[in-house]
Amino acid sequence: MDFKPFEKKIYLSSPTMHGEELTYMTEAYETNWMSTVGKNINEVESLCCKKVGCKYAVALSSGTAALHLCMKLAGVRRGDHVLVSDTTFDATVNPIVYEGGIPVFIDSEMDTWNMDPVALEKAFEIYPDAKVVVVVNLYGTPAKFDEIKEICQKHNAILIEDAAESFGATYKGVQTGLFGTYNAISFNGNKIITGSSGGMLLTDDEEAANKARKWSTQSRENAPWYQHEELGYNYRMSNVIGGVVRGQLPHLEEHIAKKKAIYMRYKEAFKDLPVIMNPYDEENSEPNFWLSCMLINKDAMCKQVRSDNDVCYIKEVGKTCPTEILEKLEKYNAEGRPIWKPMHMQPLYRMHPFVTAQGNGRCRTNAYINMGEALDVGADLFERGLCLPSDNKMTEEEQDIIIEIIKSCF
Ligand SMILES: *Cc1c(COP(=O)(O)O)cnc(C)c1O
Repeated sequence: MDFKPFEKKIYLSSPTMHGEELTYMTEAYETNWMSTVGKNINEVESLCCKKVGCKYAVALSSGTAALHLCMKLAGVRRGDHVLVSDTTFDATVNPIVYEGGIPVFIDSEMDTWNMDPVALEKAFEIYPDAKVVVVVNLYGTPAKFDEIKEICQKHNAILIEDAAESFGATYKGVQTGLFGTYNAISFNGNKIITGSSGGMLLTDDEEAANKARKWSTQSRENAPWYQHEELGYNYRMSNVIGGVVRGQLPHLEEHIAKKKAIYMRYKEAFKDLPVIMNPYDEENSEPNFWLSCMLINKDAMCKQVRSDNDVCYIKEVGKTCPTEILEKLEKYNAEGRPIWKPMHMQPLYRMHPFVTAQGNGRCRTNAYINMGEALDVGADLFERGLCLPSDNKMTEEEQDIIIEIIKSCF
């Protein structure tokens, strides 16, 4: 190949600013509303309610903070089993542990790469005491909410939705961030829109929203002095961050359209390669296409072996693996990433229970030693999958070069 490396790095997903952000930040500055109170925060809360269709939104310092308060609202206590998506970013899971809960990982299905309802039902057989389910919409693709909600209702469990990656995506015409009793979105720097950081808790429950707002500002009671009856947190969004989010919100749909165009161009370009793009339920859901990902067919995988921190592979003609593609992208100054390593394979969490659709729900401490046939869907996605450069600012010409780089690996 005779391409030169990109002069400007092509990122996986990086912030895209438009100008209004600076106007609202400046407004905060010039009026001295630089703390955790102000018009930007109020506006952002009301705009998010309008967008998602929920009654209450609480602006917070991060998506992780929002998820932590979701766990508290759901009543997660020390020793409680909490059923949670296995293939996710660990910020979905850590807040369970902050509250002393025990995460039980639920394997993914192949249709959307999200929580498998069959495995979830099985988990309730093994852990009938479980009262909370946390489901993620991986890479902006909605999970199978009809099935998951039905199972949660049947077992009287509270659903928490981690919509950090899926803001703006819909399932049967309904926005993600509305399916759980308590829901979280994120404005981290790499998400579909950003505040540089920040997050939001969404709910229809007024009392819950009030509690979350109080907890997020150190649980101050209504008194002339600092009066405290409950444990508090410093989790409130800053009005400066609120200004960035406020400036970004009008551009959400435009970002999604750009991400979708990127996804569709990859899909079209790879239709003759032995790969699939990250799948979604085309009839019922519209992802926000936050990250374009691909999965290499089993028979097109060359041998790739991973330890905890290292990887090697053996090149074969006509075959490739995520490692080869990622290395080649890096050589040309473009950023990809392996599929999120499942939680049951993480040193931090691999002693935890892990339930698959077929398995028996026991601890699977050897699942990370994964040579040859994958043992579960999560490990299989990790073995064969990767996230492609999906940055909004990537031009069509740049994407064409990335496509050629990837094709040359086969
Ligand atoms: C980014 C992310 C979070 C955390 O959001 P922050 O705002 O970075 O704290 C949680 N869950 C998932 C799935 C994410 O991708």
